[in-house]
This record gives sequence, structure tokens and C-alpha cells, in this order.
Amino acid sequence: MSSSLEFILEGLEMILAPGAEAMTVQQALGVRSLADMPTALKRAGYEVCYVDLPDKVSGFAQVIEGQPHIVLNRAKSAEHTHFTVPHELGHHVLHLDASRDPQLGLPSEGLAEFQAHQFATLCILLLANEREREDVLNENPELLLVAATSLLMTAGVILIPLIVHLWSSLCGLPRPVAEK
Ligand SMILES: [Zn+2]
Repeated sequence: MSSSLEFILEGLEMILAPGAEAMTVQQALGVRSLADMPTALKRAGYEVCYVDLPDKVSGFAQVIEGQPHIVLNRAKSAEHTHFTVPHELGHHVLHLDASRDPQLGLPSEGLAEFQAHQFATLCILLLANEREREDVLNENPELLLVAATSLLMTAGVILIPLIVHLWSSLCGLPRPVAEK
């Protein structure tokens, strides 16, 4: 495979994997709406609880004695929590599941947050009806930024090698040698 194609595929996988994972998980859990999510999670063995947390903490994901917990700040609005639940589920699926390929391992904190945001964004795009989507967006404006960044990164990963390829063809530079 040529190295630029490999670069494109690896980049796309890194960017799109959390979204693809969100689709698989949402189907496996049989979640049909955002409001249905906590119930579906409990059915699947998650403990979902609402507690007093500092204002800047929306919630967190933790495995306690082998059981995945999603702990939510009970002072937050329902619309806010609609985003927090799939975000924390994203941490469980992408970062806390010990049975997963260790190669995916633990990314840096910033990347982990971005991936959980992507996971949650896709859940919301798949599950929310129009009104819910608007409410969740109003409460969680960072959602749009995550979606836009993913799109830009996807475009970048596809376009940059293409531009390099065209540029080197136009300028008659030797192209990268295909790896065996
Ligand atoms: Zn997080």
C-alpha cells in the first residue's frame, strides 16, 4: 500500500472510530431516544446515578468493582445531561473497557475528551429528534465545535496527501516510493 494511502486510512480511523463505535454501541444497547438512554444503560448493566458534584463537573465515568458507573451531577438540566450521558458512555466504551485492544490504549487526556465528545455528538445526531437536538445544542455549544473539527480534520487527512501528490506531480518531483 502506498504510504500516503496508509496515512489517509490511519488518520481517518483515528478521527472516525469514536463515531463508528457510537453507532455500534447504540444499536447493541437498543437505544431509541436520548431520554431512553439511562434506562437502556441500566438494562445493559451500567449503574447510572445522580449525585451532588462541583458545578464545573457534569459527571464522570468509573468502573467500581467491575461494574461500569456513570455518575451525573444532579444540579444540571435534563438537556445538559442528555450530552453528559453519551459522553461518559464514550469514556467507558473507548477508554475504560479492559477487554479492548490495548493498542487503542489510553490516549492523552485532551484526545480522550475529544473522542468522548465525538462519541456523544454522534449519539445525539443519531438519537435526538429535532427539538431535542436544538435544546442539547443550546446547552452544549461545544458540540458544534467538535463536529466542525472532525469534519475539518477528515477533509485535511484526505486533502493534504492529495495536494502533496498533485504538487509533486506538477513539479516533477519524485513521488514517495511505494512500500512493499
Ligand atoms: Zn470526559
